[in-house]
Amino acid sequence: MEISKKPWSMLSVCGYKSRIDTNPDFQRPAVWSLGQKQLLIDTILRGYDIPKLYWRKIGKAPEKYEVVDGQQRLRTIFEFQAGEFHLAKNADDIDGVVVANMHYNDLPEDLRLRFDNYDLDVIVLSDTSEDEVREMFLRLQNGTSLKAQEKRNAMPGRMREFIKDLAQHQFFSRCNFANTRFTHDLVAAQMTAIEINGGPCHVRNSNLNAMYTSHMEFDPASPKSRKIRRVLAYLAQTFTEKTPELERYSVVSLYALVSHCLERYVMQGREDDLRTWFIQFEGTRAAQEDLSADEADPELLAYKERTSHSTDAQDSIQWRHDYLLRKFFEAVPDIEPKDGQRLFSHEQRLAIFRRDGGICQVRLKCNGDKCEWDAWEADHKKPWTKGGKTTVENGQVACPACNSSKDAAK
Ligand SMILES: [Zn+2]
Repeated sequence: MEISKKPWSMLSVCGYKSRIDTNPDFQRPAVWSLGQKQLLIDTILRGYDIPKLYWRKIGKAPEKYEVVDGQQRLRTIFEFQAGEFHLAKNADDIDGVVVANMHYNDLPEDLRLRFDNYDLDVIVLSDTSEDEVREMFLRLQNGTSLKAQEKRNAMPGRMREFIKDLAQHQFFSRCNFANTRFTHDLVAAQMTAIEINGGPCHVRNSNLNAMYTSHMEFDPASPKSRKIRRVLAYLAQTFTEKTPELERYSVVSLYALVSHCLERYVMQGREDDLRTWFIQFEGTRAAQEDLSADEADPELLAYKERTSHSTDAQDSIQWRHDYLLRKFFEAVPDIEPKDGQRLFSHEQRLAIFRRDGGICQVRLKCNGDKCEWDAWEADHKKPWTKGGKTTVENGQVACPACNSSKDAAK
């Protein structure tokens, strides 16, 4: 990387306007108010100092640049010079000259010359890699109001590229939250963290930052990457239009659920079941808010609690994940394991146990005993050996005595 520092007159900077990209993709969108713009121009007209500008040289013939730091200052200068805004109504006189409300072209010649000849300190970076530029941008922005995901979007490495690309997935257009301050990128990063971990984990900013730096060489064609795209594709097939229930707090959990189920169950053709269940679940959850504490479902209250505090913590995500899986299997009990296996899964057992209230349904040796969670068997109603499926629908609670008696009868 080569660095040159030199003063550029305003006139020559404005002459380069068409060759300077003031909006490269790692920068944040322009957010300066008119007041901030007027203050900058006022500062320049008074001959005061303004901070350095950092440009990266990206072309030699013709010479081209992109702005690494100072994007908003430069845009403001261009806009003022092009007559797009005027100085403040109540601006103080400059050297005894009235400037209130003036556009660039209204300025008396002396002040216009002062503007044109004002020297901007420009640091030009040449032979700089993308990663070096991003690193420099990050350092320059330290301590400013750039939010965490905006900072991550300026971090070097392939994880950044992967997440940025993922945030463009059509599924996000079906969600009920906008991409303000890169919220889609943030959610995409959280989904990726969960996938890389193989299930719920902490997805706080510090954890996501660590993921970006420890996966600098992340392969967008790796099995994990392909899995993430498969889950999002499934979600996009499930929610084919904008869905108000797809809120910021619920989509990460929904992602975890689909990711889990796609590995283990036959989910093909289940999109309608998933959508119907999810919308109904969210409706039930929302309806709880009108109920008094003793009428409300304590589990749904606990769920709500976990969607409003420490939502990025592992135990909160894990709790919601377990809960949603069980509710999904209770609501759609005929989902089958992928490999036709005999053993019921954890979430199937949970759904069966809750549905049957822990009471033995076999009743060969008992009259419907109530079982403890750690002492019961999940039994196939229609035996697995006779083609009975390993589904919540075909499963039932059996007490140990009834279960061994049924086994003996086979
Ligand atoms: Zn029994």
